[in-house]
Parts: sequence; structure tokens; C-alpha cells
Amino acid sequence: MNEKHYQAQNLVIGGGIAGIVTALELLEGGQSVILIDSDKRERFGGLALWAFGGMALIDTPEQRRMGVKDSPALALQDWIRFGELEADEQWPLAWARCYAEESRTLVYDWLKSLGLKFMPAVNLVERGESIKGNTLARYHILWGTGRVLVETLIRRLLDHAQREKLLVLHQHRAIDIVCRDGVTTGCHGIDEHSDQPFSVQADNTIVATGGINGTTENVKKNWPARWPGPPQRMLNGACPLSDGAIHRSIAGNNGQLSHLDDMWNYAAGIPHPQPHFEGHGLSLIPCKTSLWLSPDGRPLGPAPMVTGFDTRQLCKQVAEYPYTWQVLNWKIAKKELAISGAEHNPRILNHQFARFLKDLMLGNSRLVKQMLMESPDFIAADNWQELAEKMNRLSQEERIDGSRLRALAEDYDRALADPSRHGDYPQIKRIQEIRRWRTDKLRTCNLQSIGEKKAGPLIAIRLHFISRKSLGGLQTDLQGRVLSQQGEVMPGLYAVGEAAGFGGGGASGKRSLEGTFLSGCILTARKTAAAICHR
Ligand SMILES: Cc1cc2nc3c(=O)[nH]c(=O)nc-3n(C[C@H](O)[C@H](O)[C@H](O)COP(=O)(O)OP(=O)(O)OC[C@H]3O[C@@H](n4cnc5c(N)ncnc54)[C@H](O)[C@@H]3O)c2cc1C
Repeated sequence: MNEKHYQAQNLVIGGGIAGIVTALELLEGGQSVILIDSDKRERFGGLALWAFGGMALIDTPEQRRMGVKDSPALALQDWIRFGELEADEQWPLAWARCYAEESRTLVYDWLKSLGLKFMPAVNLVERGESIKGNTLARYHILWGTGRVLVETLIRRLLDHAQREKLLVLHQHRAIDIVCRDGVTTGCHGIDEHSDQPFSVQADNTIVATGGINGTTENVKKNWPARWPGPPQRMLNGACPLSDGAIHRSIAGNNGQLSHLDDMWNYAAGIPHPQPHFEGHGLSLIPCKTSLWLSPDGRPLGPAPMVTGFDTRQLCKQVAEYPYTWQVLNWKIAKKELAISGAEHNPRILNHQFARFLKDLMLGNSRLVKQMLMESPDFIAADNWQELAEKMNRLSQEERIDGSRLRALAEDYDRALADPSRHGDYPQIKRIQEIRRWRTDKLRTCNLQSIGEKKAGPLIAIRLHFISRKSLGGLQTDLQGRVLSQQGEVMPGLYAVGEAAGFGGGGASGKRSLEGTFLSGCILTARKTAAAICHR
């Protein structure tokens, strides 16, 4: 079949949030753009379509209204320490600084100018364990989730006054970038709808293909060296189309990849009851007041298994098991269970503030009922023996002993009730610490015992490791230009968003302060487009 040819000043590869923002900003600058995306038109927007919409933002009016005194200097300190960024990591550090200093204007103010709103309460997440994380609350939630963000930006892109300078090609997958005499001149690809090959010639090629964690094979291949080996069964919390093919093509042309073994995965996944693709998982925000156990029913550790402190550490501690269990009860689940993403947060997605408040105050029975109905990995039982039997039936292993499980829960419940024994379970101190922040107090039970009869039924949730974001990627300078393995600019080639490790090939280092991804995509896209327009 004949190859179809296209030509423009700019080629953007990838129609996620990073690609869309780049294309929009290039149009604003009067430049012509071809945006190709391998996914279908209805999935234009990439992962941001499913994202919750949490963003780490610094020194905002929402923070000030809650009495939080943040500053770029403080945020940068938290960021570098938590990410364990080394002093010689020039570009990741430069992007971390850029995020701290410029995200207020380039992300927060910009989104507000587009008519988007944040919820009034700011959240304190990733407090850190042995390494301190966020020292104050800076996690803002976009009212309407990632979905409203994507819809708003797509509308602006497609209704743009310079629309005739834009061509969007869905189901067009780039296979290789084209490089002549050291200069990138576009890409070759395939139109997956008609199977026709195509090529695009452009002065600037901007890679916005997302991370590499869209395939669990990539996650396993880049697994952190000093961790226990990857679990055999791993759920996919990203999108299989982000498979790293363009990363590899660029590395084959001498481009520099870095921090690929730094990832932002999650410890508490369940198979998606209505999967969008094979192996698709949902990431639960694990209930804090629960016992988190190994397949044999033993408490995990050594660090307390409580979310909100160090996601990386939680991942490391579950990684050595094929699956883990959380054991809790109805009352705890109703207050504490949440699922990351737009799909399972309809109150925020659909702007239902009164119902959101009602769920917050009275608990989210709807979600717990839905999960018990839809997911075989959620189990309810009236007593410990029955719960253990159901757990064993699900795992098809006889590893949970009902009386041992009951004894463990009873001991934990006694320790909860006896302040002199709080030290026996470091998790208790964590729960108390969490409840000191106003918004978390509303979402976290006050030392609720697990065995209490009227808080039942008992619930067990079987959890699997779930992949999500790549913290590493193509190394870029502050203009978004991709750098070679010798640290030189590769003419004509740029990278933005998760493909660039949110800037510099790994701006977050080993850990994110959380909610730095959507905002990192917007920041890198806007900076890069501005650099191209002002050249
Ligand atoms: C359920 C969920 C919840 C999340 N919640 C949050 C949150 O609250 N806060 C936060 O900051 N982040 C969150 N994230 C992460 C965030 O959504 C992503 O990091 C971000 O959207 C990545 O955007 P991107 O444009 O870089 O890449 P992507 O969204 O992955 O888009 C890349 C696009 O490139 C296309 N593509 C890939 N390869 C090719 C190719 N060879 N040729 C052509 N096209 C290609 C893909 O089809 C895709 O459309 C969440 C993610 C998920 C899945």
C-alpha cells in the first residue's frame, strides 16, 4: 500500500494531556500542527480522561484560605529530599525547580483562566516515612476530575481560531522517528484503521507518547534493582498503547533515557470489573484502618502499611507477595474506601457538591456495595471462620486460618482501645497522625475496632500490585529539547509529559509528592511550546 505523506511545522506524537496542551499552545503561537494519536477518537485525551485530577500546587488561594503557608522554596526542598535527587542530576533538578517556581502561573493560574475550579479543601498526602515528604498540604482536586480538564482543552483545541492549521489523526501510530544527518524530521507510522502506512515531515517533532508503564513487561524489565523481584501477576493501571516503542526508537538514534527504574506504581489494585483492556486494574486508595496481610494472613511490614506516607515503600513491601489482603469491616470501608480515577468518583466528576458532602459525612455505602457486587476480590462475611473460608476459596489456597485471623484482629482491637499498647502497632500512630489534618479526619475512622459486631459485616479485599506511571523517560533540557547520550541537543526533537519523565527524564527522582503528573504534563507542554514559538 502507498505511504501517505503529511507535512507541517510541528508534529505532536500522542494525544494525551501533554500532546493536547502542546498542540494548543503551538496553535496559539500561530504554528501549524499535526497531532497523531494511536488511540480511538473517543479516547482522545489519554490517561487524563480517567485521572482523578489531583494536583500538587504551591502557594495558592485555596492553601491560604486553609492557613497553609507554602512557598516555592519549601516545595522544592520537599521535592528534592523525597525524590532523593542527587546534586549532579542537572536536568531533573532544573525541572523540579521549574515546577516549584512556575507551576503556580503556568498550571494553576492558566487552568483558572480556562474556567476550571479546584475544590476548596487542600489535602496532605505523601507525608513520607523514613524520608520526609510533603511538609504541608498542597494536593488540590480539580472539580470535575481529569475528565473536565480533557474536555475543556479538546474544546479549545478544536474550536481554535487557527483551527485550519491543525490536523488531528486518530488511530495513527508512530512506529519510528525519522532522523537525517542528526536532525529529526518527523516519523513513519501506520494508520491502524486502514492499515495504510504514513509519514509526517515536520521542523519539530514533539514526543508526547506517555510513559512506558503501559505494559507490565516494561515494568518488570525496568524493575528497581534492590527490590524483591516483581510479582508474577501485576495489574495494568495505565494504557497498553504507551508501550515505549518511540522511547526505544529515539534511544536507537542516540537519545538519552533516564530514571526508567523509577516508577509510580500502587500497592492496592483489583482487576477492573469492566476492563478496557486485558489485565486492566483499578487502584484502590487502601483503607487506613485495616489489617494489611500476606497471603498467609501475617501483618506486612516492617514499615506500617498505611497509605498517605510513602507509596513507594508500600509498593516495595507488597512486591514480594503474589497478592495481599486487607481485612476490615463495613463501617471502615464506608468511610475510608476510595478508588483512584474519574470513573469511581461520580460526585466530583458530575459536580454534585451536596452529594459529595453527604458521602463524606455519612460514608460512601454506594461504592462499597458496588464493589461487593461487581468485584469477586471483595468478600463479606458475618464471622471470622466464614471470612477465612471465603478468602481461601478465592485464592484457591488453604493459607488463611480463621482462628489465627480472629486472634490477630482481636489483639489489634485490644491495642487500639489501650493507649499503653498503641506502640505494638505502629499503624495506630500513623492513623492518629493522619487524623490531625482536618480533611483526613473526615475520611479516617477514629481508632475503629475491626471485630465490633455492629460495624460488620467483616470484609476482606484481595489486592494485587498495579502499574501506573513512569517517573523516568527521555532526557530534556528546559526548552523540552531531547538530549543525546552525550548530553547534546538533538535538533528537531522534543519530549513532553510522562514521555519526558515529567521533565528532564525524571524530574521526580524516586518519589513524587503525588499529584505532580497532570500538572507536570501541562508545565512541560507549555514550556516546550513557548520555546518552539519564541525560537
Ligand atoms: C486512573 C488514573 C488516575 C490518575 N490520577 C491522577 C491524578 O489524580 N493526578 C495526577 O497528577 N496524575 C494522575 N494520573 C496520571 C496522569 O493521568 C498521567 O500521568 C498523564 O495523564 C500522562 O499524560 P501524557 O499525555 O504524558 O500521556 P498519556 O495520557 O499516556 O497519553 C499518551 C498518548 O500517546 C498515545 N501514543 C502512545 N504511543 C504512541 C505512538 N507510538 N504513536 C502515536 N500515539 C501514541 C497514546 O495512545 C496516548 O493517547 C492518573 C492516571 C490514571 C490512569
